[in-house]
Amino acid sequence: MSTPLFRVERIASHASSVGGLPITRALPTASRRMVGAWCFADHAGPADLSPERRMKVGPHPHTGLQTFSWMIEGEILHRDSLGSEQMLRPGQVNLMTAGRGISHSEESQTERLHLAQLWIALPDAARHGPPAFEHFATLPRLKLGGFTAALLTGCYADARSPVPTHTPLLGMDLASAGAASTTLTLDPSFEHGLMVLEGALEVAVGAETYSLATGELLYVAPGPEAAKLHCDAAARLLVLGGPPFPESILLWWNFVGRSGEEIARYALDWNAGRGDFGHVEGFDGPRLVAPDPSGLRLRG
Ligand code: MN
Repeated sequence: MSTPLFRVERIASHASSVGGLPITRALPTASRRMVGAWCFADHAGPADLSPERRMKVGPHPHTGLQTFSWMIEGEILHRDSLGSEQMLRPGQVNLMTAGRGISHSEESQTERLHLAQLWIALPDAARHGPPAFEHFATLPRLKLGGFTAALLTGCYADARSPVPTHTPLLGMDLASAGAASTTLTLDPSFEHGLMVLEGALEVAVGAETYSLATGELLYVAPGPEAAKLHCDAAARLLVLGGPPFPESILLWWNFVGRSGEEIARYALDWNAGRGDFGHVEGFDGPRLVAPDPSGLRLRG
């Protein structure tokens, strides 16, 4: 019996930094911009930050996206222009919908820090809507073979995450303290990104097995109905999925739009204190300044 071959791409994260915190970024990369509506995937830590090196990201704007923060270790304080002030603790998700405009700040409250910062592109029908902020203190937990899974968004088996999205999406965190194996059921209409946050994993899709190290993302195009996972020691995997996003987006700095002209206007409005971005109360420090957008009109 022959096993079908599926289109799979192995993507290396690149190193960057956010508010002084070293991070690895798996999306967007040169070869892969999105997985479903997931358009940005940063992995921060695990790190032990000295008090003077704590993450402190001053007020900055967003448009056309949702920020999705998944806390693994440590605590972060979120403030936004809607007046939200919310501590994010391990096992919890903050979902901030930018819509037509919002601004927020983020500050780590602990030396230990480990989280995934993800962005979800809003479809055209939702991207001009009002901003919103929601905090999710508990998420469904599943036992998958030797892995413990948290269902961050979407559905898996009989479980449904309370975290809503505007397009079908899957987000799942699988962790094991030692050797573990399971078969992950995949929606064949979804593309998937399997991102190794800690340790190393073997992922078998169709006839091929891929050995992934920390920081690697395995992109799996729509088609397969399962992926076999195995680790020999402690490991953590973030699973992102969704149907290929049907709209062409432009992501620049903290904005998602559809044209360079539109994004240049967001940047100029933010820097001039205009627009729909509001004001973050209670943050001790300066707001961030958007880079010069003058080259942007050439794009999109
Ligand atoms: Mn932000």
